[in-house]
Amino acid sequence: MEKRTLKNGELSLLGFGLMRLPCREGSQEIDSEAAGEMVDYAIAQGVNYFDTAYMYHEGKSESFAGEALSRHERSSYKLATKMPLVALKTHSDVERIFNEQLKKCKTDYFDFYLLHNINEDHLRIAESCGVYEQLKKKQEQGLIGHLGFSFHDRPELLRKVVEKYDWEFAQIQLNYLDWELQNAGEQYEILADKGIPVNVMEPVRGGTLAKLCDESIRIFREADPNASAASWALRYAASLPDVQVVLSGMSVLDQVKDNVRTMSPFTPLTGAEYSVIEKALAAYRRAASVPCTSCRYCMDCPSGVEIPKNLAVYNNYQIALANKHPMAPFLFEMEYHILQEGQHASSCVSCAQCKSRCPQHIDIPRWMGEISKLHENLRSAHR
Ligand code: SF4
Ligand code: SF4
Repeated sequence: MEKRTLKNGELSLLGFGLMRLPCREGSQEIDSEAAGEMVDYAIAQGVNYFDTAYMYHEGKSESFAGEALSRHERSSYKLATKMPLVALKTHSDVERIFNEQLKKCKTDYFDFYLLHNINEDHLRIAESCGVYEQLKKKQEQGLIGHLGFSFHDRPELLRKVVEKYDWEFAQIQLNYLDWELQNAGEQYEILADKGIPVNVMEPVRGGTLAKLCDESIRIFREADPNASAASWALRYAASLPDVQVVLSGMSVLDQVKDNVRTMSPFTPLTGAEYSVIEKALAAYRRAASVPCTSCRYCMDCPSGVEIPKNLAVYNNYQIALANKHPMAPFLFEMEYHILQEGQHASSCVSCAQCKSRCPQHIDIPRWMGEISKLHENLRSAHR
């Protein structure tokens, strides 16, 4: 297993995300036997980074981590968990939840500890409950090794967060689809400029990049018949020099084996291999409902609508539905939210200026209307 040492000690380049563990048929109950076997195999193969959170598996992931990992030498793995900012009401909740986590994880310290999912609202909660300051004290007491945060929001907010506090690492969603779509590239650069090591989450985008579409899979197979589509996605993330660990939320033992193979040893992507990914990505986009190629000839829109990104969010939603992804509406909402104020399809005033500029002859104003309606419908379904 490839190891990488940036600023937080020697970590296996493959990290085990404990958020999509196998469950018992028809329930949310973790199949601890199957999941335990996966953890044991990963440790035997040199994986030493395990990432859980208070909220994963409706609170059961941490208890599973405690059970599965306590069978191993404490020094043989690094355990990361997160403070659920969304669950905090007062200062004292931080202490209560932290102690609960130690107990559930059967440990007396966390190697890595994150403020979970910082966004505008959660940042306000973190400030009002003094979360960073309380966790810093815990670090001084030896209860936390390295303090960081996870993030799913806009680059402007990320800039603010990295200026506000001192961080030892950050966890962002990064993969070749989100490099532009969710500004993962810009986020990576912000962190790299500040010298903050990056933990990658969703390198395979919840499984989407393991399936893509038939043509994309054919392109990958042609380039390397022995490599899975997921292995290309993992290598894309791991090829970035400021990435210290690539987390994969593995659900079956075969995924663990495939990912371990990819990272043992790890080979960075070559220029020709980046071109293969570009080709596969282009085929994926062509297979989508709206044939947008992200050429941006339609831009700029006088109303500020980010046309290609709205279309990409819509296409991803349609592909997620076609792949029967259970989180498809949630993913749509999350990606739509990442667009800045005024960039959403709902800002379109149907002036039609963009329409004649599109080489794919896409009826852009009509699609902006559809996307805006879809957003409204999904929102009211959640109310
Ligand atoms: S039709 Fe909508 S998206 Fe196109 S330029 Fe006009 S306002 Fe912008
Ligand atoms: S011009 Fe057409 S294909 Fe190009 S980004 Fe705009 S909508 Fe997409």
